[in-house]
Amino acid sequence: MADCLFCKIIAGKIPAKKVYEDDKTFVIEDINPQAPTHVLILPKKHIEGVNTAKPEDADIIGYCQLVAARIGRERGIEDGYRTVYNVGPKSGQSVFHLHLHLLGGRDLKWPPG
Ligand code: 5GP
Ligand code: ZN
Repeated sequence: MADCLFCKIIAGKIPAKKVYEDDKTFVIEDINPQAPTHVLILPKKHIEGVNTAKPEDADIIGYCQLVAARIGRERGIEDGYRTVYNVGPKSGQSVFHLHLHLLGGRDLKWPPG
């Protein structure tokens, strides 16, 4: 998608701090971190969000969770982290290229705001 911020980051057209990459995902540090670990797991495929995903996107939506678990292990935050797909503007979704937040490294409140 030509006008998508995360597609541009994945293509290297906009700089970002890359954490991890494989054939299906691209992982970056969030530019405005809300926790000591706050990374975004981006599918390389442009999908707007969980609410518009198609049945064939189920694998990548789940795979992002496994990538998050791997990073959680590597960062030593397995005593408590959170993975979040924000869906829709009222949830705070501001970038409409599906992405999984991984937040950890501090006590996390429940319910989230
Ligand atoms: P959303 O609110 O859509 O769930 O999450 C978008 C996230 O992307 C936010 O946490 C925001 O800080 C992050 N973000 C927005 N623009 C950029 C950017 O240019 N680079 C990086 N690394 N993160 C960004
Ligand atoms: Zn995109």
